Amino acid sequence: MANIGYIQVVRHCNHLCGFCSNPTSPYTHDFESMKVLVDDLVARGYFGAILTGGEPTLHPELPRICRYARDAGLHVRMITNGHNLGNDGFAQDMADAGLQIVHVSVYSTRPAVEEQLRGIAGSIERAERGIAAAHAAGIEVNINCVINALNADHLDEGIAYWIERHPYIRHFVWNNLDPSMGRAEVNQDQYTPRLAAFELSLRRALAMLERSGRTFRVEKVPLCFMTEHAWASTETRKIVKLEERVVHFLDEKQTVRQTDWGHLYADVCDVCTLRPICGGLFNRGDGYDPAELYPVFVPLEAVVERILHDPGDPTSAFASLGEWRVAFDAHNAVRPEPSAPVEAPAVRVGRVNEYGMRLYRSKRESEGRRAADRGVKMERENEELPPSGGARQPA
Ligand code: SF4
Repeated sequence: MANIGYIQVVRHCNHLCGFCSNPTSPYTHDFESMKVLVDDLVARGYFGAILTGGEPTLHPELPRICRYARDAGLHVRMITNGHNLGNDGFAQDMADAGLQIVHVSVYSTRPAVEEQLRGIAGSIERAERGIAAAHAAGIEVNINCVINALNADHLDEGIAYWIERHPYIRHFVWNNLDPSMGRAEVNQDQYTPRLAAFELSLRRALAMLERSGRTFRVEKVPLCFMTEHAWASTETRKIVKLEERVVHFLDEKQTVRQTDWGHLYADVCDVCTLRPICGGLFNRGDGYDPAELYPVFVPLEAVVERILHDPGDPTSAFASLGEWRVAFDAHNAVRPEPSAPVEAPAVRVGRVNEYGMRLYRSKRESEGRRAADRGVKMERENEELPPSGGARQPA
């Protein structure tokens, strides 16, 4: 299985997205504590690591940990807002450190919308400069986009923009907003989209990408809202390929291992032909309405075949539909009831020390002012901070 794990290398950021699900925490990493997490993914037999945040380019030892992960045999990617990627020599340093793919997050190619979502002006230009630098350095560039209430009606516009201006970008990733954590949780009213609000523009965007020979993935969107492209659903691919995912959260959640890809199903799902391979409705945070779901009646086998024989993704362990069916049924026979991601007993993720506490306090103060100016609520105060003094761990 081609499992990829996530390592949050920092939790602070230079942007201020109103729907950030992983905002600043008091936990920080040094090289040694990041190394432990790379070793953990290697010990789990994982294929790769995704360096993320917060904004990972803010960690001064990012190239070093990237090199360490590559030397340990992992495939390495990074998710960034692109703000620092075009800084002098940075993309080349990351390329030299072995970074293979960079996912640059841009939510809208309409400057006013992007500014409202990012809490900062000029972010598209900065991201484009970074994209060009990464491409010139030989790093594959993908575009990530969080679907939200403000960009829901023009997802396809962004695709036309990227195809025209950066034709070398060949892969796109959509994540429907996770309204359960961080600022996304407290700003649900502003940013959580209705599923029907993006259905059409997502369909147009995916069709445009398919026509142009590009590839894509879509996460947290029920298959009834992307039926034609069901094979591109991240959850469906994980369900079909029996994959898991580990996230090393740089906060009190620590290590989360996700083995169950099903969310919430409505009564209508009982008659839907795609039910066995559908992730359903993302229900953590209660941001979405199950009444929007509707059953579809398309052959499940066609979706599975497309995933098993995807020439752009040779990671499937199953040679045929029959072989897959046997493994899939056996897997489900022993699978526990759908549940929230399980905490895995694992390594310690980062630490809380004086430096982390000072950073957390000062970021909350400055971000609080910027958020108030922009009409965005700040995430809840971290309630599980270790008490001052003895419980903090040394740097
Ligand atoms: S009706 Fe339910 S099972 Fe069918 S595609 Fe929609 S969410 Fe998935």
